[in-house]
Amino acid sequence: MSKETNFVTHLECSLTGTKYEKNKIHGLSEEGKPLLVRYNFKKMGGVISRDEITESDEPGFWRYSFMLPVEKKENRISLGEVVTPLIKLDKTLKNLSFNSTVLIKDEGLLPTSSFKARGLAMAVSMAKQLNLNHLAIPTNGNAGAALAAYATKAGMKSTVFCPDDTPDINVREIERLGADTYMVNGLINECGKIVLNGKEKTGWFDVSTLKEPYRIEGKKTMGLELAEQLNWKLPDVIFYPTGGGTGLIGMWKAFNELLELGWLKGKLPRMVAVQAEGCAPIYKAWSEGKEFAPLWENANTIAAGIRVPIAVGDFLIIRAVNESKGFSISVSDEEIIKARDEVSQKEGTLLCPEGAATFAAFKKSVNTGTISKDESVVLFNCASGLKYPLPEVSNFIDKSKPIDYTLF
Ligand SMILES: *Cc1c(COP(=O)(O)O)cnc(C)c1O
Repeated sequence: MSKETNFVTHLECSLTGTKYEKNKIHGLSEEGKPLLVRYNFKKMGGVISRDEITESDEPGFWRYSFMLPVEKKENRISLGEVVTPLIKLDKTLKNLSFNSTVLIKDEGLLPTSSFKARGLAMAVSMAKQLNLNHLAIPTNGNAGAALAAYATKAGMKSTVFCPDDTPDINVREIERLGADTYMVNGLINECGKIVLNGKEKTGWFDVSTLKEPYRIEGKKTMGLELAEQLNWKLPDVIFYPTGGGTGLIGMWKAFNELLELGWLKGKLPRMVAVQAEGCAPIYKAWSEGKEFAPLWENANTIAAGIRVPIAVGDFLIIRAVNESKGFSISVSDEEIIKARDEVSQKEGTLLCPEGAATFAAFKKSVNTGTISKDESVVLFNCASGLKYPLPEVSNFIDKSKPIDYTLF
């Protein structure tokens, strides 16, 4: 789209609805809750049509710029964003009593190999628009890599704190991409405290999940993209691996915005917040009928991206799940590994552990009847499976000895 159009009206506290001015630097609201960006959809609908988007030649999610906060094209920081593919599962569905379609949205193809690129591209572009020059983040790996990449591209300084058991390849990636990188003997929330407490002393801007208003706008594009790819008819159920929940909240925001524009056919999907048994604060709170989720003690799972013991957007995740008539579910690390191996070996797609958690949760939900066999499903694989430790290969051939071809 060649038109340069921006429809942001203001920002709003997600808990109280209190309004905040646009074009100002914002973190959380006065109540300590996430701020959401609001747009004038009436005006937008009069200027832009659905068909124009389909014809857009903007790269990846920038095709939805009119629904995003970045004002000028020169403020966009871009590293080759792509529209991520939908991959249809078949062989893994054979032994399930399931007749509908299951698609995996494979986000591992984005810059830095995870969907964190969507959120951080937006946050860094907005940081440029607002003249910030030093960004800091706590991360379980993928967000740090995305911040490092986009900040470096934008010519900004970035400082990254990760738990010292973050997958090694992620930590190395972050440092190579130009961030000042530190490992911390604590979990992501404890890394977050270091960022928070350093704000005044260092002058850095905190880009933690949902503690600034724009990562969610970037993650929203998953929902916009999914809608367009499915010809504006959304699936019945979406399984999302939920850590801080930006993606789930962002997609729910996207769907409601598309509804307001009158662009969707049919109803909205049921949103399913998938968590790991070793770190399931949202699942626990949702099961108990609560809206806020207290800190989960001793969080532990191989699915690093969803090892988030406390989430500032807890009530937004739970509201989206409930409003959509969805549910939350948790799966064990054993189920996650089994799911990863089953999908990679039967379908040819190497999921990340978080993505594998959605497949495990889908299977469990079919088997318990929580979803019916004719509901269409989308699972999110949020990062490349290559960013995580994989089992060693032990088969070995000694070339100096006769080869036993009966082995093969
Ligand atoms: C960050 C991350 C998640 C969780 O995303 P949220 O939207 O913050 O809940 C899931 N999977 C992977 C691979 C991640 O990096």
